[in-house]
Amino acid sequence: MSQYVNEVLEGLKKKAPWESLFIQAATEILHSLAPVLEKEPKYKKNAILERMVEPERAISFRVPWVDDKGQIRIHNGWRVQFNSAIGPYKGGIRFHPNVTLDTLKFLGFEQIFKNSLTGLPMGGGKGGSNFDPNGKSDAEVMRFCQSFMMELFRHIGPDTDVPAGDIGVGGREVGYMFGMYKKLANEFTGVLTGKGQYWGGSLVRPEATGYGVVYFAEEALKTKGDSMQGKKVAVSGFGNVAWGAVTKATQLGAKVVTISGPDGYIYDADGISGEKIEYMTEMLRIDRMSVAPYAQKFKTAQFHAGKRPWEQKVDVALPCAIQNELNLDEAKNLMANGCKAVIEGANMPSTLDAVEFFQANTGKILFSPGKASNAGGVATSGLEMSQNSMRLGWTAEEVDARLHQIMINIHKSCADAAARFGTPGNYVNGANIAGFIKVADSMIDQGL
Ligand code: GLU
Repeated sequence: MSQYVNEVLEGLKKKAPWESLFIQAATEILHSLAPVLEKEPKYKKNAILERMVEPERAISFRVPWVDDKGQIRIHNGWRVQFNSAIGPYKGGIRFHPNVTLDTLKFLGFEQIFKNSLTGLPMGGGKGGSNFDPNGKSDAEVMRFCQSFMMELFRHIGPDTDVPAGDIGVGGREVGYMFGMYKKLANEFTGVLTGKGQYWGGSLVRPEATGYGVVYFAEEALKTKGDSMQGKKVAVSGFGNVAWGAVTKATQLGAKVVTISGPDGYIYDADGISGEKIEYMTEMLRIDRMSVAPYAQKFKTAQFHAGKRPWEQKVDVALPCAIQNELNLDEAKNLMANGCKAVIEGANMPSTLDAVEFFQANTGKILFSPGKASNAGGVATSGLEMSQNSMRLGWTAEEVDARLHQIMINIHKSCADAAARFGTPGNYVNGANIAGFIKVADSMIDQGL
């Protein structure tokens, strides 16, 4: 069956060899599926892999806007509606200068499996632009978001496709996009998630991804009779995901010693908690590109310019920044330094060879792929959709309890699937297989 997998992967490489991120994500996922494809001939017979790797629809559009100097600027916008077998397309929007269609295909493909793992009825999609919100004024960001939505609105809807935030898109951007959608569609619905608290947003959504990462880490450590209590933790990033992860890890008794930005990382031997977390979120509002000022403000910290936190000796690593931020050498270094668990908070932060290294060392180090451990964000988006449909709002305690239970369930589905298909403890295989079966069977049920 790996022959079938290889054929499909070769097809992708031949068709669009430049789509290196998408090919990377597809390679990891499809290889894990070989044992299922072997056991269930219906998948090959129904050409499931060939169908799954092709988005149902990929929309590409122009985003014209006017900057503060009165200059006309043009960016690209995309929405990849990858798979709607189990629910409306669901997934974030990324604004980052490096975004291409390839980036969004990788993220959209991951999202199919991630959303399936949450147990909620959400298909997979992703959108974004090569626009860089850094260094732009509020008014510029607003005009950009409005222009972006002016085209996107016709392709989305609360039962069609529900976007949310991702890198470069937080509450502010969701607000500007929602405002424009509302005008164009003349409706007030839950068409976007990650909304503000007073206009349909769910409590706990802002911190949900990071909380979920730590809930997953706690479950994984439990399989070894261990917990987050007293652990020394390295976190990368300092944005949407890292913030919640640092907060929850600290609450569970761990000491977080690093955060990072594009300029390097901070090591704070005293732990990053309390007012330091507040300072970190404040920094994010001012300049998303730099963590260096942290070391000036807090004397217990050192700034390591141009470096990544994986050179440190820690018990748990939570990569929460961006794709391919942890390579094979760093994976080896973490393990050699006694790291017990690498639980991904970003989407595909480990390179393919690092993932293979972790998989080969299952039993010695716990490794969870982002699609499992960062699914708490989109799961809470799913809870926001439910609250919007019911026209009610749950308390923070209720949302957090549901999120926690969803993460426990995701961990269990991954662990069970990994064991059932012969690789106990391998969360990569478990996540891909458990996510795949529901989507593939739904596609078969619904015909071509
Ligand atoms: N961007 C997040 C992710 O990668 C959240 C998506 C959502 O809430 O729809 O899963």
